[in-house]
Amino acid sequence: MTHFVPRLDGQPFAAPLGKIVCVGRNYAAHAQELNNPLPDAPLLFIKPASAVVPLEQPFALPRDCGSVHHELELAVLIGAPLSNVKADAVAPAIAGIGLALDLTLRDVQDQLKKDGHPWERAKAFDGAYPVSGFLSPSGIALQSLTLQLWRNGRLQQDGHTSQMLFPIAALIAEISGNFSLQAGDIVSTGTPAGVGPLQGGDALVLTLGQKQAEDLLRVETTVL
Ligand code: ZN
Repeated sequence: MTHFVPRLDGQPFAAPLGKIVCVGRNYAAHAQELNNPLPDAPLLFIKPASAVVPLEQPFALPRDCGSVHHELELAVLIGAPLSNVKADAVAPAIAGIGLALDLTLRDVQDQLKKDGHPWERAKAFDGAYPVSGFLSPSGIALQSLTLQLWRNGRLQQDGHTSQMLFPIAALIAEISGNFSLQAGDIVSTGTPAGVGPLQGGDALVLTLGQKQAEDLLRVETTVL
């Protein structure tokens, strides 16, 4: 497989792609739809760079692994090293924002949870993280964004970043206290409610918007 290069405002990003740090249960309504308790601290896991594919191109799902759920997420591209920082130091290190699908083998994950095992088998497979190109965040209020996923013309996920349990700056500061972030890493900030299974042939539209303004980002893609 070819190595994924993040794009920022249409240009290849200066640093190579690193790790993807994901947060689970960062929206209360999503935690509730899967009957999970609300976390006291961010629930973190990591996807490897080998999981990343371009969202703008048709993508394939794993076969014979049970249901594959879409989790629409705001993706944050890190532009400078962050280690053990406070929330007010995070903004200058955010290089870009984009949209991603944290694809999840839900049946596999349910079994792993039951067994008390790590989630990588459900979350880290090749192709498990389709991500869009990134936009410069300057002038964008990160906690005032709408995230929508339309599947075959039906609105499936409709979230707002104001609903995050751990807002982006606090979340990234917390992550940086556990392990360092580098330029080229991506932080995936959790999914709002409405997750569900994908099928081959699905047509998806993902949007990132601001109130009373044109969408910042709109990606149309298909599931192979
Ligand atoms: Zn997720």
